[in-house]
Amino acid sequence: MVEDERLKSLNDKPANADGAYVLYWMQASMRTRYNHALSEAIARAEKLEKPVVVGFGVMDDYPEANARHYAFMLQGLADVAANLKDKGIRFVLRHGHPADVALELAKDACLVICDRGYTAHQKAWRDTVGEKAGVQAIQVESDIVVPVETASDKLESAARTIRRKINDRRDDFIQEMRIPSPSKSSLTLGGLEGLDASDWEGVLDRLKLDRAVKPVSDFTGGEEAGQRLLNTFIDDNLADYADRRSVPHDGAASRLSPYLHFGSLSPVEIALKCKNAIAPQSEGLRSFLEEMIVRRELSINFVNYCPDYDKYSGAVPDWAQTTLKAHRPDDRPHIYTREEMEAADTHDDIWNAAMTEMVERGYLNNHVRMYWVKRIMDWTNTPEYAHETALYLNNKYFLDGRDPNSFSNIAWAFGRHDRPFQERAVIGKVRPFTDAALKRRFDVKAYVTRVRDGDLFS
Ligand SMILES: Cc1cc2nc3c(=O)[nH]c(=O)nc-3n(C[C@H](O)[C@H](O)[C@H](O)COP(=O)(O)OP(=O)(O)OC[C@H]3O[C@@H](n4cnc5c(N)ncnc54)[C@H](O)[C@@H]3O)c2cc1C
Repeated sequence: MVEDERLKSLNDKPANADGAYVLYWMQASMRTRYNHALSEAIARAEKLEKPVVVGFGVMDDYPEANARHYAFMLQGLADVAANLKDKGIRFVLRHGHPADVALELAKDACLVICDRGYTAHQKAWRDTVGEKAGVQAIQVESDIVVPVETASDKLESAARTIRRKINDRRDDFIQEMRIPSPSKSSLTLGGLEGLDASDWEGVLDRLKLDRAVKPVSDFTGGEEAGQRLLNTFIDDNLADYADRRSVPHDGAASRLSPYLHFGSLSPVEIALKCKNAIAPQSEGLRSFLEEMIVRRELSINFVNYCPDYDKYSGAVPDWAQTTLKAHRPDDRPHIYTREEMEAADTHDDIWNAAMTEMVERGYLNNHVRMYWVKRIMDWTNTPEYAHETALYLNNKYFLDGRDPNSFSNIAWAFGRHDRPFQERAVIGKVRPFTDAALKRRFDVKAYVTRVRDGDLFS
């Protein structure tokens, strides 16, 4: 059953009982397990005695996406198509603007169900579909544990202000979900032509997109690979997560962020499996759920309630803008161009290793990300340019980039969700973060060596 708080009407039109199917327009929750939108579509289809069709629009120029992101996504959609087929549900993958594809498929639908991403363009597309579809349209929030407006009705200033609100409701939403096969199959319905989702490389080849950033071999997209990684994490690392999550090589971080970003895994399922696997008082479990629920959902709160979440003027709090402005004229011992940074060509071996790992692997451990972003602040002429550069590199190379976590964590480096510290050159009262913070947690030289030798990527 899908909790009422996950549902929102996108228009006040009625369902059309004469439609051929219930349409689930998939965009954010690219999976067939623990997908509340899919579950709701099937439940409504059963009542109407209709089949379910799942539609997905793949566009050429998705904001800030390149071949790396597209490959991971299309690998995931191949899983979605196969798993839906097993349930007797037709997956229609069409080349086009997502909202246009949804509206086209909505013409023959009884009603439209969609999932919920939080960035501005995802919201705008849903608004378009709600407004222009001729039938009822309902949004189902499926990529979060506590629905964002249930947790809080305002922009929260820090983890400490949202933690209790989330944790008080958390267990109401960490509920088991089994998604049945619908009574009526849609596999033989006519008029539903589309691309062959099982041939993800073929689909990738025909798209017009930025191919400069190559797909990575270290992560394979999709819910099957995501499930395997989740099981390995639970078996091998969950118990040690609190102690070893900051170690980038042989550490205990889950590496689940790309799967969460593309909706291949549900945070509800991850939380449930972790809770079922280990004693409730385990420090590893507490620490992991703090990151995967509280911190992640704080980021979603930020993107949901801060209209300019992707701009320096909106993302950086006033106190931090004031102090960074006061220190704008300070001397910077090193200044690097964006190109020099991208080429990992700085005097700093740790930073170069981080940038190399990011370019080659599309992933970094959280503490290394903190160090990486703070140096960009030191090495650019203005805080505005530092913010723009960090976001640009983050979203270009990380598989989990372009996520609410991307915008909120880059903003964190500039004071968001944080407090003032003792004043220093260049960064003013914004939190410092030096290599000493890394050296306390792991063997930095070993990390640099392993990145240089390509030995980290296993
Ligand atoms: C400068 C900077 C940039 C970042 N950019 C991104 C980004 O583009 N996309 C992204 O998903 N995360 C980003 N993060 C947050 C965090 O670093 C990653 O989510 C985490 O490293 C992903 O690795 P993991 O899945 O192994 O994490 P784990 O340590 O295993 O954590 C499990 C999950 O908890 C969540 N989580 C962990 N740390 C954070 C955090 N600090 N804030 C919010 N949620 C968190 C993530 O969903 C993560 O997958 C950034 C952090 C910093 C400091």
